[in-house]
Amino acid sequence: MTTPALRLEGIRRRYKSGAGELTVLDGVDLTIARGEIVGLIGPSGSGKSSLLHAAGLLERPNEGHVTILDQDAWEMNDEGRTALRRNNIGFVYQFHHLLPEFDAIHNVALPALIAGRKRKEALTEAERLLGVMGLSSRLHHQPAQLSGGEQQRVAIARAMINKPALILADEPTGNLDPDTSTVVFAALSDLVRKEGAAALIATHNMELAKYMDRVMSVDHGKLVQRQ
Ligand code: ADP
Ligand code: MG
Repeated sequence: MTTPALRLEGIRRRYKSGAGELTVLDGVDLTIARGEIVGLIGPSGSGKSSLLHAAGLLERPNEGHVTILDQDAWEMNDEGRTALRRNNIGFVYQFHHLLPEFDAIHNVALPALIAGRKRKEALTEAERLLGVMGLSSRLHHQPAQLSGGEQQRVAIARAMINKPALILADEPTGNLDPDTSTVVFAALSDLVRKEGAAALIATHNMELAKYMDRVMSVDHGKLVQRQ
């Protein structure tokens, strides 16, 4: 068996709330293989973002292990963990966070340039990914010249530029109308499968469940399989 992209074991996350404490994740276990797309559904406040933040090494859980490609992230030092995240995890958010003064191809290429790849190589790869996203004719458009769905597809291409093993997406279509959501979601799942990545995608849109290999929800701090 190949190494899973993500393994969560016994994740507990508590937040202080007033005088008391709120347990949002109460012993979550989840393993995602490369090539697998897992949906995370559930009402607002159920803990989807908390789970994604733990998986993305953005917040240290109170308890449990987060393993990315066989590396136990919280056993590493800060530098090692930052490198683990930068090299292996791509993030997609509800808002695209594209740089307004850069065109599509440069927005997508930027994380590769930051990672030290050659300019020509980064731009060639950015062009390829935008092609897969159906945006070959939008390479030199700035974000303001793109539709919401196109902006989000640029953000997805950007998340993939450093060939992450794992894509974490938090309500990636939360800002889009239903038809555009379907197009963007199909593009995201196509790209994840084509590149052999794993994905964990929070959404409240059950229509999108058909693109997932598994659908889970957070229910009173526990992960429950829905499909
Ligand atoms: P979801 O993404 O499913 O809407 P979240 O993971 O954002 O849920 O939040 C789950 C619960 O944890 C919510 O009740 C929220 O208010 C609480 N919560 C999230 N972050 C914090 C925080 N930093 N401090 C206190 N409570 C928080
Ligand atoms: Mg959320």
